[in-house]
Amino acid sequence: MSGSCCDHAIGRSGYCCRCDSEVDDHAVRDFHYLEKGLHLSHGFVNSLKRRRSGMGYGAKKLHLALDLNHTLVHCSRVYRLSPKERYLIRQADSRDDLCRSGDLLIKLRPFAREFLREANELFIMHICTDSEPEHAEIIVKFLDPLKIYFGQRVITGRDMFWLIAVRVSR
Ligand SMILES: [Zn+2]
Repeated sequence: MSGSCCDHAIGRSGYCCRCDSEVDDHAVRDFHYLEKGLHLSHGFVNSLKRRRSGMGYGAKKLHLALDLNHTLVHCSRVYRLSPKERYLIRQADSRDDLCRSGDLLIKLRPFAREFLREANELFIMHICTDSEPEHAEIIVKFLDPLKIYFGQRVITGRDMFWLIAVRVSR
């Protein structure tokens, strides 16, 4: 089989999730950041974009909650780096995908910035992480220094505790 065989929106690892037909690479957009192997049809991506910009009458905007560590970045304590990884400390100042703050070394996952740029056209994005608030702040500042993507929509470990506490107390 060749070419895109169906009009369905969502596929995984080259196959449509609805009808199982094979999907052409060129007919879909890769969204492995959201889930391994996930791809979406161009038509579906365009409809998400229209929704995001409010053109779909009365359509609810879609919200996307992202974690930080192992999703957008990999974080490590400097003293926990293996001898093989220690070269990263020296490169932190010269590479724009690396940031060191105190004993924290933050490394962007490949194409994280491209992903944020594209996802921002489709979703209202939030950070929802159990990272410590101090760390989350540093990481978000590195990812989104101008607050274009997340604004104030960052929920951290401590905030999550309060969210749960409020729910339980009701
Ligand atoms: Zn299909």
